[in-house]
This record gives sequence, C-alpha cells and structure tokens, in this order.
Amino acid sequence: MIVRAGLFYDGSLAKPRQNVDIEIADGAIVAVRNADGGAYDREAACVTPGLVNAHVHMEMNGEADSMGALAAMTHNERLLHAVENARKSVRAGVRTVRVVGCSNNISPALRDAIVMGRVPGPRMRAAGAVLCMTGGHGWFVGRELDGPWDARKAVREQLMGGADCIKVIATGGVLTKGAVPGNAQLMPEELEAAIDEAHRHGMRVAAHAIGTQGIKNALHAGIDSIEHGHMLDDEAIALFKKRNVYLVPTLTAPTCILEHLHDGGQPEFVIRKAESVGEAMRTNIKRAYEAGVKIAGGSDAGTPFNYHENYAYEIELMHTLLGMSPHQALHAATAVAAELIGLHRGLLEPGEPADLLLLDADIARDIRVLARPQGVVQAGRLVGA
Ligand SMILES: [Zn+2]
Repeated sequence: MIVRAGLFYDGSLAKPRQNVDIEIADGAIVAVRNADGGAYDREAACVTPGLVNAHVHMEMNGEADSMGALAAMTHNERLLHAVENARKSVRAGVRTVRVVGCSNNISPALRDAIVMGRVPGPRMRAAGAVLCMTGGHGWFVGRELDGPWDARKAVREQLMGGADCIKVIATGGVLTKGAVPGNAQLMPEELEAAIDEAHRHGMRVAAHAIGTQGIKNALHAGIDSIEHGHMLDDEAIALFKKRNVYLVPTLTAPTCILEHLHDGGQPEFVIRKAESVGEAMRTNIKRAYEAGVKIAGGSDAGTPFNYHENYAYEIELMHTLLGMSPHQALHAATAVAAELIGLHRGLLEPGEPADLLLLDADIARDIRVLARPQGVVQAGRLVGA
C-alpha cells in the first residue's frame, strides 16, 4: 500500500514534509519518499502517526460515578467493556496504550488476544492491579499492601498475572471516597521496594501521585513516570529533570469532571476534589512544561466523561492549557509517550509499524482535526474511522 500525504508529520519535532509517499508492506513502513506522480492507494491532506495514550483504564467507560460503576460490575462485564474500549480506541486512531491498572488481570489477557489477532485493539502495555496501601486510592481494584516485603510480593504477583509494567499509588486520588489527593500514601520504603523489584524483572513503574510529598517520594524512590503530578513544586521539577522522569499530566481527567458538573451522577466528593486538583493542575503543569520536564501524553481514559475514543481532547488541552504548539502536543502524544511505553519509537520511519492517521487538514491550523480522522491505518491495514 502507498499513502500519499500532502503534509507529513513523522512524530518527531522535525519540520513536516510536503507531498510524500509512504510505502507500506507487511504491516511496516518500507520507505518515505517525495511523491513522484506514480500510483497510490490512499491520499490525505495531512498524515501523522497513530496516537499513543500512556494512561488508560480499559475496563472503565467514563461513567459519572467510577467507583460505583466498577463495584456494580462483574468481572465478566468488565472484560467485555475492556474489549469494546480496545476496539473504540483503535478506530479513533489510538495505535498504542499503556493500561495503568486493571482488575483480575483483564488487560494482560486482552493485550495478548490483540497480539494474536483475536480481537481488534491498540498495541498495549498492561499493569495488573494497582499497588496501594490498605484502604488506599483505588483499593477496590487494587492489591493492598503493607511493608516493603509485601510490596515485593505484590509486584511478583502482577508479574505472574502477566503484567509488563507496574503502577503504584503514592498519594490519595479524586475518584476514591475518603482518599485525600494531597496526602502521601505508600511509604518511601514501600515505593523503593516495589520499584526495585519491578526493575529487577525489566518492568517500568508508574506512580499515581497528585500531592507534593508523594510526588517527591516517588521521584526519590526511582520511579519511571509520575501520573497526574498536579501539585508538583519547584523541588519536584528539579528532581524530574535530574532523574529524567516522564510526567503524564492527564489533563482530560479533572477537565471532564468539571465540564459535566450539572450532568448529574457524579458523587459530591469527586466534584469537590476535582475542583482543587484542577486548579493546581492549570498552574503547576504549565510551569513544569516550561521548565523542560518531559511531558508524555496520557488521558486517564475511562474516568468520568473521559472516553477512550476521545484521546484527541488531551492533545487539544496540551495545546490550550500548557501552551504547546499543535506540533509539540502531537509529539508528546506520539513519540514521547511511545518512548515511555517502550514498544516502538512512535515515529513514522522505515522499519516502524505502519500506524497512520489520515486527516483532511493540517493539525497546525486546527488541532481538533485529530478527533475526526478520515482514515486510520493500523499495522498497514485500513481500520476505518
Ligand atoms: Zn488513572
């Protein structure tokens, strides 16, 4: 297959090229060259790599009350939701995701089924249960642990369940009743033990961390990425840079909660916490970005009103809230997120998987064009939009 692009973004920050042909064979890119007037199979005004979402919850569907919805679902229902959300993701142009927490090892099983071609879905890296303190944020889908040796055991259990990355809970969170986002949860010793154990088995570790102290605890403990990070301070920014840690700001999560205050169904405690977290997010994440912290795209898809097929909204928010150019936001949601996930480079270049978005306008003119691709190519095959 040959795709002719009027404008071509390869996922890097290099200037987009005009009038190129992308040659695809056996699911991979063979060549990218100047269009020569020969035949082609598909044409688009603008071509970008498929999107990479570094923070999703496959079995959650954007219900107004996440905790209540999960509690009401059986494991079988959760699995079916995950399968459906995988299909929606890939149709919307999401080529790769990192699932940061699931119940009953659903995501490792789904990851393997996608690889074997049994169900459609994005390339996937998958954590098992989130590792939290007893009663900590996410306990209702988590592995509660107390003490460093229990932390190691919890990591080993996730590995046995098929996980290929680990998620730890360093602070309270918005969606768990009673968990205060600003408070640290797992102790430094527990974080260090979990991270060391995961690294020994070749797995990267993501930390849910909203409060200032918990962010710093995770950074000192050797974490690979901080999820949310909304209450970070200058000391944390310096640590991010010194240790070369990724920040996945999940701007969509609080934004969607606050955009739907009057839609009903959201518990009062969620709204109150999202208001304070949202305010911190709008100032602090922009500061981190401007200071040079590496930002990787991730939306927390599955949280209230935050749907798996709407990942383009996170990219729009990186543009409007953080001041990234559309090109920089695309880079954060392709190459940078892919680098964090580690399955491929996230770029469109020879040897890379042929996962393309076909768009009818330049993203620099209207970044929202990413939300309505005219075509999606995954592994060299048109999956349709
Ligand atoms: Zn999350």
